[in-house]
Amino acid sequence: MRTIGLIGGMSWESSAEYYRILNEGVRDALGPTASARCLLWSFDFSEIEKLQHDGQWDALGEKLADAAQRLEAAGADLLLICTNTMHRLAGAVEAAVSIPLLHIADPTAEAIRAQGLTKVGLLGTAFTMEQDFYKGRLTERHGLDVIVPEAEDRATVHRIIYQELVAGQVLEASREAYRAVIARLVERGAQAIILGCTEIMLLVGPQDSAVPVFDTTALHAGAAVKAALS
Ligand code: GLU
Repeated sequence: MRTIGLIGGMSWESSAEYYRILNEGVRDALGPTASARCLLWSFDFSEIEKLQHDGQWDALGEKLADAAQRLEAAGADLLLICTNTMHRLAGAVEAAVSIPLLHIADPTAEAIRAQGLTKVGLLGTAFTMEQDFYKGRLTERHGLDVIVPEAEDRATVHRIIYQELVAGQVLEASREAYRAVIARLVERGAQAIILGCTEIMLLVGPQDSAVPVFDTTALHAGAAVKAALS
């Protein structure tokens, strides 16, 4: 089994889910006492989110590259960045190490394509919904047609992530708000919804959407299990 290096703590609420899913996946594959070989670098998210909102992406790239190198030196065979947003810096991480980075958008897009779906609604942080690093990969590499919520809905989705979910708060009113945003994306033709922030699965799931939802946390961790066991 190969060792999975996790660049996490963004936030730890979702890194804990990665840890659980990796271990469950290895147990399912190898037997009841088997568990994942993994290493976790866990950031203090308060530092990360401040730099994000100040637009200090170069400094963030250095932090991620440093974490990646520490994990490689400690014996990781492959790397995961346990957040969609920070894939903006996937290039900086890849350039810093010689082990492969498993990009979160790839297993997500592959799962969507496998169901024959092409038009997807994307939920995530404002960075993920509004910048090109993520949508671009889904469109250019995987041929998906990506739509995002209207401006007011994007602000709501972003606020709930940064003010509640990363702080471990899961509120019924916010679940209702997400359901309404999802319904509006479906009205605009979305055949599937990407939960494109690794904490969103704490709030909503298949039961909150009229179309299939694709949880990036589960898909990313699942792909890592496969890679580690291959
Ligand atoms: N975990 C989130 C994501 O998947 C948001 C936190 C962050 O900005 O890294 O995008």
